[in-house]
Amino acid sequence: MSTAGELKERVLAGERIGREEALRLQEEPLEELTAAADEIRAHFCGNMFDMCTIINGKCGKCSEDCRYCAQSIHYHTACEESYLLLPTGQLADQAKKNFERGVLRYSIVTSGRALSDREVDQACEAIRAIRRETGIQVCVSFGLLKEGQFRRLAEAGASCVHCNLESSERFFPQVCTTHTYAEKVETLKAAKRAGLSICSGGIMGLGETMEDRIDMVLTARELGVKSVPVNLLNPIPGTPFEKNRILTNEELCRITAIFRFLIPDGMIRLAGGRGLLGDKGEKCFRSGANAAISGDMLTTAGITVETDMELTKKLGYEVKLGNE
Ligand code: SF4
Repeated sequence: MSTAGELKERVLAGERIGREEALRLQEEPLEELTAAADEIRAHFCGNMFDMCTIINGKCGKCSEDCRYCAQSIHYHTACEESYLLLPTGQLADQAKKNFERGVLRYSIVTSGRALSDREVDQACEAIRAIRRETGIQVCVSFGLLKEGQFRRLAEAGASCVHCNLESSERFFPQVCTTHTYAEKVETLKAAKRAGLSICSGGIMGLGETMEDRIDMVLTARELGVKSVPVNLLNPIPGTPFEKNRILTNEELCRITAIFRFLIPDGMIRLAGGRGLLGDKGEKCFRSGANAAISGDMLTTAGITVETDMELTKKLGYEVKLGNE
């Protein structure tokens, strides 16, 4: 039996595969690997497809130096827009529009190292309004917050905290130097202690290896992450990664398939950069991925919710909330 076939049987039987086994999958024939990942997805998640949308709740002028990001003050990019935390009305209106279109999860994302206490209070007011007026789940991506701040957000009705690990601990200093991997891990732990679920993945195409990607997911798995955003680097002119090669659809299919082997019951979520794929992610959605960020990304245009609704239907998926 092939490695993919053998490991698939073990995963289907409830076994957790480790680092060395996951590394062996990178050499497997692509079709065999992706078919096995699709079978694992169907076994553990059925036809559930978890779709979320995001809003750039506070934009630009970020003190951090994440080397892929258009919003960092350290780089000169075409993204000159900047604004403070959006008012409750605007955040709630957007949530309502998404809910009416069938989206069940809405994430407010803000630029900067972390929201201040005052901003957290303001965000809590917006979350309360959204939860009063819609049935949409609210996720937050507010940077490196502390447990007490997460508790206030949970009390206001937030359900999940997003904080990407981005890559492996080993590679992270090549990605950002103004905060550390340990701070990200502590943020995810603090969110969990506050009773929130956690969503954490990374960016593919920064110059990392498959080992880095696998180590990132193993760290996420250890932390109890069930939602793993998989971003495809969209090299932004003016950032240090502007000349990076964009990964191919096949490379991304292999990545989502391996991630599915590692977190069989999770939401492997195509995120930023999906529009760079000619098929909008269709092949990946047959290769272990079963979730997506729909609509516009933070600073780049995305794929509309309507297009994604059609795509999921065509693939036999049903938009539902995944298990957190
Ligand atoms: S990714 Fe977030 S923290 Fe990093 S520079 Fe961009 S806005 Fe700032």
